[in-house]
Amino acid sequence: MELIFAQSRPGRCACNLPKLDVPAQDCLPDALRRTKPVALPEVTELDAVRHFTNLSRLNFSVDSHFYPLGSCTMKYNPKAHEVIARMPGFTTPHPRLLEIPGGSDALQGTLEVLYREERFLSELFGFAETTLQPMAGANGEFTGVMLIAAWCKKQGQSQRKVMLIPDSAHGTNPASAAQAGFICREIKSDAGGNLDLEDLKAKLGPDVAGLMLTCPNTIGMFNHDVKAICDLVHQAGGLCYCDGANANAIVGRVRPGDLGFDVMHVNVHKTFSTPHGGGGPGAGPVCVKENLQPFLPKPRIVKNADGTFALDNNCPESIGHIAPFLGSFAVLLRSCAYMLNLGREGMRRVSENAVLNANYLRVKLAPFFDQQITRDCMHECVFSATRSKDNGVHALDIAKALIDRGFHPPTIYFPLIIPEALMIEPTETESKETLDAFIAAMQEIASLAASNPEALLQAPLSTPVRRLDETGAARHPDLASLED
Ligand SMILES: *Cc1c(COP(=O)(O)O)cnc(C)c1O
Repeated sequence: MELIFAQSRPGRCACNLPKLDVPAQDCLPDALRRTKPVALPEVTELDAVRHFTNLSRLNFSVDSHFYPLGSCTMKYNPKAHEVIARMPGFTTPHPRLLEIPGGSDALQGTLEVLYREERFLSELFGFAETTLQPMAGANGEFTGVMLIAAWCKKQGQSQRKVMLIPDSAHGTNPASAAQAGFICREIKSDAGGNLDLEDLKAKLGPDVAGLMLTCPNTIGMFNHDVKAICDLVHQAGGLCYCDGANANAIVGRVRPGDLGFDVMHVNVHKTFSTPHGGGGPGAGPVCVKENLQPFLPKPRIVKNADGTFALDNNCPESIGHIAPFLGSFAVLLRSCAYMLNLGREGMRRVSENAVLNANYLRVKLAPFFDQQITRDCMHECVFSATRSKDNGVHALDIAKALIDRGFHPPTIYFPLIIPEALMIEPTETESKETLDAFIAAMQEIASLAASNPEALLQAPLSTPVRRLDETGAARHPDLASLED
């Protein structure tokens, strides 16, 4: 940032505005006026372009680097889908068009995309209906548990106030449940990283509304007891929620609806390859079985007998609106293009190759890093940086050393139940050559950790800023340090 200020020269600017040819307006109240000029650099257009282009090149992105950030599914976004997302027929309609009589006539293409995507997702994951409104995975979770709450109330079971959540769950699960008014009760994991069945049985009861289970779970394990677990929860009168953020491991092969789940959210920005990172935008559609259908957010997108599409607001049992307008439409459009582009067979190959790539890394890295669970994994593998701990090299140091070697770090210290966790998710879009280069870097880091740990403790050395106070940055963000 200093760079552009150092380049500033009085009077330099990017363009010359034509002389004012209308009467000048001078109606700003004194209280709103600046008392001194704003401190902006005075530079040419070329200076500004170079500044922002060079800043962008300091970033890590999927388009520039291998990005194995576990649980985030940072796969490549095909550029053809970006072209579709920019088609004027989709980008130009005014968001409030739907509110005027006949407005939906001009939005038939938009409504058809959404209607068809709802059918695709319902079929792909084994459910009766889908809502596309939620605007992120966490927003989908909130929607899903609200549906469970509405169902309990309808059954005259409002005393069911408890949501069961495994200790390996993503933090958004308890947050969403609490936000919807539930009390969270934690279920332990067993030694194999799966939900402890005895603990589940002990914690089920007439106060339990449901269980939120991540399938496959955040350690990258598929729980072979999942059908039995759903049966147990149903026998106790509760419902089963599937956190589908890890669907990249099973898409096209396993349908959570067939396993017994009543409701599931899908992170389209993960599984269906829409750009994400940095907090959004995303979309978190929610699929449901027939029992939860009446409570879905309104309006619903319906197909008329004449083949046209419309919005139906006559949904008396609906939990209401979850998103304004039609949700994250441009994100949903990209994911719809992805599904149509890949087709049924392509989708099966996504999960096949995602699992193959993760297991390749798991086996190749096993000699250099400790593993708490050594079974076959699904779409991601988890190591513990415990071997180098005595030398002072922690998961954080390994992550930082990877940056110097041209790789985005894996997820670290999550899931919480694995000490010094390094969670690596390669996705299916990476080649064997890229995986081999990553393995070589990890091997080099592991041997340095043993022979010369000091060499890792200062990493990253190649970045414009070195180690940051990440906790401080999150708790006390300084967003205005350039303002005086
Ligand atoms: C990413 C993720 C979420 C939250 O999804 P967002 O779209 O980031 O809100 C929830 N659960 C799991 C397991 C995840 O990986």
